[in-house]
Amino acid sequence: MKKIQTYETMKQEGILLNANENPRPLPEAVMAEILEAIRDLPLNRYPDTDETELLQAYGKWTGLVEEMLLAGNGSDQMLGYLIGTFLGRDKILYTFDPDFSMYDYYAGSYEAKVRKFDINEDGSLDIDAFIEEGRKNNADLVIFSNPNNPSGHCLSLSECEKITAAFAPLPVVIDEAYIEFADEESAVQLLDRYDNLYVTRTLSKAFGLAGIRVGFLISNPQNMAALKNAFVPYALNALSMKAACIVLAHSDEVQEFTAMIRRERRRMLTALSGSQRARYIASQANFIYGISEDKERLMELLKEAGIVIRNYKGSRNFRVTISVPEENDLVLDVLKKFEEEKTCGQ
Ligand code: PMP
Repeated sequence: MKKIQTYETMKQEGILLNANENPRPLPEAVMAEILEAIRDLPLNRYPDTDETELLQAYGKWTGLVEEMLLAGNGSDQMLGYLIGTFLGRDKILYTFDPDFSMYDYYAGSYEAKVRKFDINEDGSLDIDAFIEEGRKNNADLVIFSNPNNPSGHCLSLSECEKITAAFAPLPVVIDEAYIEFADEESAVQLLDRYDNLYVTRTLSKAFGLAGIRVGFLISNPQNMAALKNAFVPYALNALSMKAACIVLAHSDEVQEFTAMIRRERRRMLTALSGSQRARYIASQANFIYGISEDKERLMELLKEAGIVIRNYKGSRNFRVTISVPEENDLVLDVLKKFEEEKTCGQ
């Protein structure tokens, strides 16, 4: 059996702020529309393997033509597909440290090697040094999340362009799972100029559809023709595709949600700005990354409050998903309590 780095899935109870999901269930009217539409689906038949309706709906949201889009079972599947397409035994995947751990998982499953570039604690990095080290490492594929998971730092469009241009013709994959929450622009604008660029997106975060597993791979039409051709047939089931199309038709609600998260992110980071017992990183995603020497004490306080966050074991680091104001208030209460213990000399 191959040795693959496993992904820690988190089945927990409480206020779940550990997986960067949208905390709100779908609006009742949207749910009703989905249920109604599902009644008419011919579930005895295989789904549309061309994903026509879904790609049209996502094309409308992104302003991209269908020929540039392919959907699969979460952006995870699309990342795995790209890694499997470009890498094989002993090929080199080059990424950031830290970054999304599924890159390691897929590299392992294709027996590729992973080389990582240490980014700063706040997620920023020296782009020239990243490029130079990638060349020295003989990278075969460059992949990173932007905004970065876990720091929330987002590279600018020009930084993404510099990386893409420097590594050409090697494939560069930019994982934009959290781009809808960012102030920076998406790298999809670069696709008509860089043949080596691939972007992945998801409906799991801003669109509130983590449960239906729909993600996208985006590149220029020539690259996508080959990728579509070799993709596993019927990757997406009819129920997920239908639900996704309906949610994509309610784009106002998505905009309202991302605006709320940005507001809350600003509010939380402002409230936490004077903290001494932990450092909180300026994020452009729907989560906040923290670093504390006393993290284990913070974990105890959060546990007492029934709040589940992402704890990076064996490090000083943790990550909290930004939620609705009421839940964020509960988090802020705990973080303030944590801070006050310090002031009280504990
Ligand atoms: N990329 C990043 C950076 C992520 O954090 C996640 C989910 N945690 C994904 C991709 C995968 O998301 P999904 O498969 O739900 O689309």
